[in-house]
This record gives sequence, C-alpha cells and structure tokens, in this order.
Amino acid sequence: MAQSSPNQELVDRFARFYRNYYRDAISQLAQQYPNEQRSLHIDYNDLYQFDPDLAEDYLSQPDQLGDFAEEALRMYDLPADVSLGQAHVRLRNLPDTVDIRAIRVHDNHVGRMIAVSGIIRKATDVRPKITEAAFECQRCGTMTYIPQSDGGFQEPHECQGCERQGPFRVNYDQSEFVDSQKLRVQESPEGLRGGETPQSIDIDIEDDITGKVTAGDHVTVTGVLHIDQVTEGNEKSQLFDLYMDGVSVEIEDEQFEDMEITEADKREIIELSNHPSIYEEMVASVAPSIYGYDEEKLAMILQLFSGVTKTLPDGSRIRGDLHMLLIGDPGTGKSQMLSYIRNIAPRSVYTSGKGSSSAGLTAAAVRDDFGEGQQWSLEAGALVLADQGIAAVDELDKMRPEDRSAMHQALEQQEISISKAGINATLKSRCSLLGAANPKYGRFDQYEPIGEQIDLEPALISRFDLIFTVTDQPDPDEDAALAEHILRTNYAGELETQRTNVSNPEFTEAEVASVTDTVEPAIDPDLLRKYIAYAKRNCYPTMTDEAQAAIRDFYVDLRSKGADEDAPVPVTARKLEALVRLAEASARVRLSDTVEQEDAKRSTDIVRSCLQDIGVDPETGEFDADVIETGTSKSQRDRIKSIKDVIETVDAEYEGEAGAPIDAIVERAGVEDISEEKVMDQIEQLKRKGDVYTPATDQYKVV
Ligand code: ADP
Ligand code: MG
Repeated sequence: MAQSSPNQELVDRFARFYRNYYRDAISQLAQQYPNEQRSLHIDYNDLYQFDPDLAEDYLSQPDQLGDFAEEALRMYDLPADVSLGQAHVRLRNLPDTVDIRAIRVHDNHVGRMIAVSGIIRKATDVRPKITEAAFECQRCGTMTYIPQSDGGFQEPHECQGCERQGPFRVNYDQSEFVDSQKLRVQESPEGLRGGETPQSIDIDIEDDITGKVTAGDHVTVTGVLHIDQVTEGNEKSQLFDLYMDGVSVEIEDEQFEDMEITEADKREIIELSNHPSIYEEMVASVAPSIYGYDEEKLAMILQLFSGVTKTLPDGSRIRGDLHMLLIGDPGTGKSQMLSYIRNIAPRSVYTSGKGSSSAGLTAAAVRDDFGEGQQWSLEAGALVLADQGIAAVDELDKMRPEDRSAMHQALEQQEISISKAGINATLKSRCSLLGAANPKYGRFDQYEPIGEQIDLEPALISRFDLIFTVTDQPDPDEDAALAEHILRTNYAGELETQRTNVSNPEFTEAEVASVTDTVEPAIDPDLLRKYIAYAKRNCYPTMTDEAQAAIRDFYVDLRSKGADEDAPVPVTARKLEALVRLAEASARVRLSDTVEQEDAKRSTDIVRSCLQDIGVDPETGEFDADVIETGTSKSQRDRIKSIKDVIETVDAEYEGEAGAPIDAIVERAGVEDISEEKVMDQIEQLKRKGDVYTPATDQYKVV
C-alpha cells in the first residue's frame, strides 16, 4: 500500500474523529440531507478532546482544514444510495470570543477562525447568490461553466466549444445558486462603558444558516476573518475593511451575559441591601453632579430595577418595565441625568430622538449600500438594541414620524413589527424607555395642559408610567443652593484636573478628596450596575395583602374624587399597573421577596406627585386623567363644544351670509365669559382638526 500523502492523513484523521464522536449525527444528517439538513455541526471541545493539535490547526488554517473535514464527510461510509455531496462542516463553540473592537491584524486574527459576540444590528433579506454560472454560447450552444468567487461576476474569455467570444447567455437552470445573507454584528450594549460608540463587523453567511436570525438577536458567530480592499470609485485605496465569512451562528440568551458577579460582590450587595438608608444612598448615586431632583432620581432607580414581568395563565404578558418621561424647560439638567444612566444601567442605549442611524428609535427596512446591489435589509433601532435594558432617548419630541407609529406597539407590547418590501419581522423591544423632551414652545406654560405643550400624541404619552415636569422658575433659596452645588462641582473638577495635569499642584490629595466627597456617588457605579443586574436576575417579589390594600385604596380614592356626575375621571386603570410596577421595583431595591406597605407608599407618593404636576386640569385645579390620556382637559373640551355651538347658533341667525361672522361669534362667546383670545385659539384648533372651516373671509361654519 502506498504511503498516504499528508493531506490524506488529515482527511483520515477527521474520518476517525467522525466515527468516534459524530456517528449518530452523521446518520441523522444522511437521512435528512439535503432538504431538512445540510450541515454537520461540530463542537470545538469535541475536536480538541480528540486531537488538540488538529483543533488548533483548524483555527489557524480554517480554509484548508475545513476542506479536509468536508472531504472526510463526503468519503464517510454511508448506505449506497446516500451522498453528502455538498454538505458543510460547521465548527462552533470556540473556547474564546474576540471583542469586535479588539480585532487587529497584529494579533494574526486575519485568516483565522474566530468567534465574536454581539447583537445583530442589521440583516439583509436572504437572496440567491450564483456560485457557478453556466454560459451558453449563442453560436454553437456549448455550455461554459465559470465558478464565481467573491468580487464581481466573472464571464468567460471564450467559448469552450467554438473558442469564439460569444455572445453568451447565462443558463439559470444549469447554474448553481446558494442562499446568502449579510449580517452586521455590533458589540452588546453592556460591554460598553461610559458611552463608547459601539463597533461592528459585517458577516457573510450562506446556505442553511441564512434566515435564522434577525435584527436585535444576541448572537455568537464563528467564522473566518478576512480583509477586503477599499475602493473609492475606481481607485484602490491602501485601506482594507475587515469582514467575516460566517461558519455558524448561535442565538444567545439575552440576559446580562457579560456581567460577572463574584461571591465578594454578592456579599457587598446583600450587605448594602440591608442599609436602612438604601433608598437615599441609591438616589445619591444617580447623577450626583446634578442638584435636586430627588423624586426623579428615585424614579430612575425604580426604573432601573423595574417591576416584574408577568406571564398570565392564559399566555398573555404584562410588562414589568417602567417608562418614564421628563418634560421641561431647557437647561434644567435633563440631558445630564439621562446620559448618567449609561454609568449605572447594566445594559443601556443612549440616543437622541432624531436618531443616529436610519433605523431611528424602533426599526426600519432600509435599502442602502449594505449588502450587494441595493438590497433590502432590516435594521434595529435604539429600542431593539436596548432589549432587556434601558433606552435613554433625549429630545424624544424630535423623533421621526416613522417612529411615532411604531412606538405605541414598542412601549406596550414591547415588540416592533415590520412589514415592508417582503421583509416581515417582529423584533423584541423589552426595554424601559427613559425619555426627555422640551415643551413645544420652548418653555413650559403651567396654565396649559401638558398634552398640548409636547409634540407627542396623547396615545403615546399615556404609555408612560410616570411623567415629570421640570420647570425653571426663579426661587432665591433654591437658586442659591443650586449655585452652591454647581460651583462646588466645578471647583472639585478644577482641583482634580489641576492635580492630574500639573507636576507640583497647590493642593494635596486629601484636600481634593474632601471637596470631591460631595459630588461623589454614594455607591460606586460599577457596584450599582452589578447590584441592579443581581436584583433583576434573582428577585421576583410578590405583593402582600397590606400593599395591595394600600394601592387599591389610593386608586379608589383618586377615582372617587371625580365621582360626582360632571367631574373629570381622575385616573385610569393604566395607572394602577404603573403603581404595581413601581411598588415591585421598590421591593427589589431591598432585594425583598415581598412587596410591603412601605413599597406601596413609595409608589403612591411618586404617582401622586406626578399627577399633581400634570394630571391637573389647569382651569379647575382638579385631577383629570383626560389631560394625560387625551391631551385635552374636560373643561377645555366643554369650551370647544360650546364654541362649536356658538358658531352654529350664530350661523343660523345670519342666514344671508356664507358662515358665522367672527365679530358676532366673539360677542356671543363674551356673554358666556370666554375671552376673544380663547375664542380665536379654539377656532384655530377646530380648524386644524377639520371641525370648522372658512367659507368666506372672517366667517366660520361647522362641518
Ligand atoms: P437640558 O437637557 O434640560 O436642556 P442640560 O442637561 O443640557 O439641560 O443642562 C445644562 C447645564 O446646566 C448642564 O451643564 C448642567 O450641568 C447644568 N444644570 C442644570 N440644572 C442643574 C442642576 N439642577 N444641578 C446641576 N447642574 C445643573
Ligand atoms: Mg437637553
């Protein structure tokens, strides 16, 4: 027998490996090939256990070894009528993953098989790609087969039959195609500290592993790293892009996978949770450079811990995530507070309503340069990327129209459906939204209902569990305290900066420390992140009877305030769920398994104060849920109705005219104590809604 070549030796080694480890898997593949299954999936650990050298070589020379592995599969002893001609061998479960931002030519990553983890930012639809094109000569009919590799469509130089240069026609039936898809995998939000911009890598995948993942999925992809020369127009650049040929794609559990909590951390967390002052300490750990806002900060803490997501026996689901909105005057520290979330949330995405990507806040089907030739792809926006975490969205009022409609579903059902250009997908967006917005006309007008002062539609506003209004009104005592705080913060910053930049600073470390003390978070941000992750993972509190009673009483009491016939309804059932979520979150802060009365009280206190700010009808001073849920208070609706009545009555009196003259309307409204300004304002609104129109100059008619 002839000495086998080194290559044959490697093929034989794979064959031995298969016989030892994958006998059953291969016979199953043989039964299901080629329709249901076309790949043999190999666990790296099995290969390593069988032969560490072979496993390591597989990683350093993946293309070559991959060929041998597939060759061995084709040669595998199978029943006569079965062939695994085109079956793939797909390696997975590598011992390490490489950080996407750490991929370097220097570390010999190029050409190697590596694994990366992250979230799918973008995925094209699955399209057939030609792998071998059959060119039919139009002169002699001979077929010339040209294998297609990456980098454009290769055509034959001459016909293999008549040796002339065509013309040719591509015969699709005789050509070979494979399903192909391109993915963009971006670093997971929790891997990023202090708001680093996430980096991503593009991955090409083929055949049976296409179409299995979608934007927003957390994945680990194993594949071979390649480089591709950048071209600008026809010019070749010196720069290269990195990309991967994906070999296997696995969907990961979305929980905080990168958050490692040691036994020591755990002890520290439990110790902290027993502090009687834990809530104050938590509040003092949110954006310490921002003065005041203790209530907002407490709400942010509760939002980070979040309520318990419940699955009901009938399969439906009640969200545990809290949504919260800060609306307020400019320059009141909203943006600062929002961006601080990045330091303490286990998983967060911080963005502006305008959005920095084409997917905006929700998700979008887009057609751009990603993929070959203007292919459609599905791109995940902020709320999808923040799945299982918190999305901090500044300038929410500036969000794009496409996002507005998708937002309702995203906030309540916590998923986003996309149906466009043949892409049908439902993406998960199980996150809490922390939004900030400015009032429509720049500054707040306390005397107008909130719904009218913010550029968000009422249906969306009503999805928020808590809405805080932030007004900037001069107040000597408060202003002095605020000034003191800001000056101190800045002074601490000056000292710190001088000490690190000047070789012999005037101040000692101790002096700096004493000043810095006031602006340092009470709980170290790193520990707080772990604390939150730990609580969300391990703590699922249930309501005590006392807590239930407290929440019920609060709710019933609020409702009863509007019980007499004509009064506005104060609160709707949606608020009740908000109260429950807040109370659960409050229990989680103590790592408590039960929601106690104190939690219920914390929850009702926050809701009462929010309602006081916004749920009040500015004209009557009463709570009015309609202000929040529909954007118009009852007294205002009554007035609008009466203006309509006035127009109708006046219109009927002036039969000769096309409509009711404005002077007569104002006069009649004056009798009912409605000022001219209000009249004009209401008419403007009615016109905008299409309830009233202008048949002639300064004349009005009800539709
Ligand atoms: P907004 O987003 O509400 O318009 P910013 O967050 O951009 O406001 O705040 C503007 C500046 O004012 C920031 O530098 C912030 O530090 C400061 N500032 C505003 N309010 C406070 C506050 N209560 N305590 C400390 N700094 C504040
Ligand atoms: Mg701002």
